[in-house]
Amino acid sequence: MTTPLWQCSASELLSLLAQGAVTAEELAAEFLQRTQRLNDSLNAVLHVHPQALEQAREVDRRRRAGEPLGVLAGLPVVVKDNLCTADMPTTCASRMLAQYRSPFDATVIERLRQAGAVLLGKTNLDEFAMGSSNETSHFGPVRNPWNPQRIPGGSSGGAAAAVAAGLAPLSLGSDTGGSIRLPAGLCGVVGLKPTYGRVSRWGLVAFASSLDQIGPLARTAQDCALLLEVIAGHDPRDSTSVPREVPAYRKLLDSPPVGLRIGYVPEHLEQAAPAVQEAVRQGLDVLVQELGARLVPIRMPHARYAVATYYIIAPSEASSNLARYDGVHFGYRAEEQAVLGQLRQEAEALRRAGDQKGLEELDSPLVRLYRATRSQGFGPEVKRRIMLGTYALSAGYYDQYYLKALKVRRLIRQDYLEAFQQVDLIAGPVSTTTAFALGEKQDPLEMYLVDLFTVGANLAGVPALSLPCGFDAEGLPVGMQLQGPLFAEDRLLQLAHHYQQHTSWHRQQPQLAGQA
Ligand code: GLN
Repeated sequence: MTTPLWQCSASELLSLLAQGAVTAEELAAEFLQRTQRLNDSLNAVLHVHPQALEQAREVDRRRRAGEPLGVLAGLPVVVKDNLCTADMPTTCASRMLAQYRSPFDATVIERLRQAGAVLLGKTNLDEFAMGSSNETSHFGPVRNPWNPQRIPGGSSGGAAAAVAAGLAPLSLGSDTGGSIRLPAGLCGVVGLKPTYGRVSRWGLVAFASSLDQIGPLARTAQDCALLLEVIAGHDPRDSTSVPREVPAYRKLLDSPPVGLRIGYVPEHLEQAAPAVQEAVRQGLDVLVQELGARLVPIRMPHARYAVATYYIIAPSEASSNLARYDGVHFGYRAEEQAVLGQLRQEAEALRRAGDQKGLEELDSPLVRLYRATRSQGFGPEVKRRIMLGTYALSAGYYDQYYLKALKVRRLIRQDYLEAFQQVDLIAGPVSTTTAFALGEKQDPLEMYLVDLFTVGANLAGVPALSLPCGFDAEGLPVGMQLQGPLFAEDRLLQLAHHYQQHTSWHRQQPQLAGQA
């Protein structure tokens, strides 16, 4: 029996397209139909591109006419809804931007189009990418294709669920503290966070600018390599993007890894749930037995401070980045009625508290507009981050929190630099558990701890990848994380690709209700 199109990897689809066994239009139609059938229950896709089929027909026309084609010609791609697109909304899953239309395309979107990709739609996320479960989306949570009662992981939950459910073979996510790797791990697909500076963030709605990166999600490491080749590289519009040549990532996959020293942190494995530990240990065995790697126990003495450090730095940067949503420049603006209603309530509260200064401030129409717009436009998690960040940056606390976090960040980075003196890569779990139930984690701190193993790579700027390495007893996927030195995406992808030649976890498919 031939594999259904929606189960094929992007690389397989490319050869079918090249052979003429399928047209871009047929492919787009197949994935759109699946989206139509399955997305009501998954909630992974927020907007379907109204001209998806036209884009595909144009690729088919070019192919027939013998015109030059890009490397993604005819491949359907979905992208996280915090990447600006001129022809679809860009909502960041926030009420604040629910009606927003970007006047321009993000650089990565431009590059996808130039490469001939067919943009099928935009995927759900935690509001402004703040979250680990995709439950903070203003448009409702995404459901995990492996079990609809479970979270898909966040914040690129829609991007991961879409690939896992076969709504698209490729997607783009963003990763500030794990948002590509965590959902990839919990949905059983591959996700790569590139080195800070590898991919331009022009047109990515900023969350925490010293941490944000855009990266690919797909079923295979080979497909991630394909997509990374397209999106990586210098962009004069993002001064943090590095002017460094982009390797031919896919070509490098051909040669097998030789004699790699792979570091692992024994305590990190022990912190994971038994089923996660077991799957990751089996994954490590494959690296040793099939791929000739040598395992080296290492120490990362400051890793235990990574979550605390991240949750000072990321909200601090967020509080500054999100100051632009004031109801004047961007997005949502509170209605006059609502402003007045809220004003009355606030004035009452301030009067009761005897806050004279607060009352005077409320006299300013601009302040009233800001207050009402921001109270109504942002959800509770985003407000929490803005308050945490504003506090950590405020006079008197700056040294105690923000500055201190920057110092600890240096130490964490130092741990990585030292580790990479001894080993070529670091392997371990992506998360301590498999996908938890929707609504299970109500305490924000508990939610923040989900990021235990992922935030380190963002703080240090190093590339990291999540790879399916097994299932727990309930049939939920387990992810293994590979982290590498700066700009070692090639090494990560090479090891992951050869690992996938020896394992079949990535070929398992979730049983979806409504699936043909
Ligand atoms: N879970 C982390 C947070 O909530 C990371 C999110 C991300 O990488 N965008 O901030």
